[in-house]
Amino acid sequence: MAVRRLPERVVSLIAAGEVIERPADVVKELVENSLDAGARRIRIRVSRPVLREISVQDDGCGMSREDAVLAVERHTTSKISSEEDLQGITTLGFRGEALASIAAVSRMEILTRRAEDPVGTRVLVEGGRLVAVEEAPSPPGTRVTVRDLFYNVPVRRKFLGPDRSEFALVAETVSRLAIPRNDVYFVLERNRKISLALPPSSPFERVSRILRLSRDDLLEFSRDNVHIFLSRPGISFPRNRIYTYVNGRYVRSEVLKKAILEAYGSRIPKGEFPAAVLLLSLDPREMDVNVHPKKYEIRFRDQEAVFRAVFEAVSAALGPGIIPEVSGMGPSSGPSGTFRVVGQALNTYIILEDDEGILLVDQHAAHERIRFEELLDRVRSGEGYSTPLLEPMVVDLPPDLAPLLGDPLLRRIGFEVEPFGEGAALVRKAPYLLTGRDVGEALREVLEMLSSKGDAGLEDLLIEGVKLAACRGAIKAGEPLSREKMEDLVRRLMQCREPQTCPHGRPTMIRISRSRLEALFGRH
Ligand code: ADP
Ligand code: MG
Repeated sequence: MAVRRLPERVVSLIAAGEVIERPADVVKELVENSLDAGARRIRIRVSRPVLREISVQDDGCGMSREDAVLAVERHTTSKISSEEDLQGITTLGFRGEALASIAAVSRMEILTRRAEDPVGTRVLVEGGRLVAVEEAPSPPGTRVTVRDLFYNVPVRRKFLGPDRSEFALVAETVSRLAIPRNDVYFVLERNRKISLALPPSSPFERVSRILRLSRDDLLEFSRDNVHIFLSRPGISFPRNRIYTYVNGRYVRSEVLKKAILEAYGSRIPKGEFPAAVLLLSLDPREMDVNVHPKKYEIRFRDQEAVFRAVFEAVSAALGPGIIPEVSGMGPSSGPSGTFRVVGQALNTYIILEDDEGILLVDQHAAHERIRFEELLDRVRSGEGYSTPLLEPMVVDLPPDLAPLLGDPLLRRIGFEVEPFGEGAALVRKAPYLLTGRDVGEALREVLEMLSSKGDAGLEDLLIEGVKLAACRGAIKAGEPLSREKMEDLVRRLMQCREPQTCPHGRPTMIRISRSRLEALFGRH
C-alpha cells in the first residue's frame, strides 16, 4: 500500500465529521458564534425537515468582506492567535473550524454587515468551494443560512434520527445555550412557527422557563464560585435534567453530576432525578476544555476540590427545613420550637399549628426518617448492631462465595460467621437490621455484593438495609396516636439532618401558611 497525502477536500470532510454530525451541531456552532459576536438578539429558524434549511441571525458585530471570506476557511479565527491564548479562553469558539466544517457539507450563505460599513457582504460556499462574494444589503449583524445539510455526504444522513428527534435536539441545544445567557433574546422557529421565545429576564426566570418549573418549585442559591438552581426536594423526574456550566460554557462532567446527585441523596426517590442548573466559575488554568472536538467534556486540575465545593453548596441550598407549601407560597420552614399539636386526622396525619400557619405531618414518613437516621448512625459508628441468633445456623454457600467469609467487612456490618466444612458457613450473630429476614439469603446477598462491587456496593446495601429496617419498624398509617407521642415524634423529626423527606424521598410534611388560608377564605 502506498502512503498518499489526502486531497484537501477529503481532509475537510473528515474534519467536518468530527464536529458536525447532526443539525443540532450546526445550530450550536452558529449560535456560539453569534454569542461570541456580542449579539443581544438571536433568531434561529429551521425548516421541516431540519436538514433542508437552518438559519441563525444575530445583531452582533458583523464581519468585513475580507473577514467573511476568510472565516469559511479552516483554522481561521479572530479569537486566539498564539499558543499562550489557549490557556485563557474566554470565548465559546476558538478552533476556527466550525464555519469551514459546516460549509464543507452544505450550501452555506453568509450575509453580514458591520454597523460602520455602508453596505454588507454575501458569501456563498457550496461543499466547501467559494461560489460567490458580492456586496449585498444587510442589517447590522450576521445571518448564516445552511441549506441541504449533508447533500454531498449521504452516509451522514443515514445516522440521523427522524426529523422530530433531530428537531428536539436542536431545541435542547438552544435551551442549553440560553440558560447562562439570560441577557440575550433567543427565538427558535420551526417552519415559521415560534417554538421557543426567551426574552431577556432574570437568571431565575430564564432557568424556571427552561426547566419548566414554577417559581415555587425552584430554589436559587449561590456561594463563592458556585451558583445553583435546584428543583426542590419532593419533586423528581424520570430522567436526568442536570445542566452544568463552567465559566458560561456548557460541559458534561461526571464529577459535577455526581456532586449534585449525592447532595440530594435520599431526598429524591431511588431511580429518579432532580432538575438542576449549576454555574461554576473557575480560573481557566484550573481546567482543560480543549479535550473534545465539541468541547463538551472538561477536565479539572483538582477534582476533589470541585466535587466538595459543589456538594457543599447543593447540600446547603437544600438544607433542612425546606417544606413544600400547598399550592403557592414557595418553600418554607418547618415548625418553629413553639408549635402546638392540634390533633390527628384520618389516623395518619398529625396536624400542627405555629405562628406561620398549619402543618400536616405524615406520621409514617416522619417516623421512617427518624429511625433511618438513628439506625444509620448506629451502623456507621459500629455500635450495637449485631444480634446473636437463638441458635447458630448453618447456611449453604455457592463455591465462589465461600472464600469471602474471611472478609473483615462482614464483621463490620454485624455478621459473626465461620467456614463450616466445604461450601457452608456457621452464622452465630447477624446484623440487627436483618431482624425478621432470612439470614441465609441475606448473607448470600451480602457476599455477592462484596464479590461484584467490593466496599462501595456494601455501603449501598447498608443504606438499603437501613431503609428497609426503618420502614419496617415505623408507626403505620391508620394508627391512632396519643398527644404526647405526636409531640415527641415531631420534636425528634425536627432534630433530623434532613427532616423534610422520608428516606425514599417523599415529603414528611406539608405547610399551609396563614396567608394561604386567608387567600383561600377571601379574608384579604
Ligand atoms: P471560531 O468560532 O472557533 O473562531 P468559526 O469557524 O466558528 O471559528 O468562525 C470563524 C470566525 O468567523 C470567527 O472567529 C469570527 O471572527 C467570525 N464569525 C463567525 N460567525 C460570526 C458571527 N455570527 N458574527 C461575527 N463574526 C463571526
Ligand atoms: Mg465558532
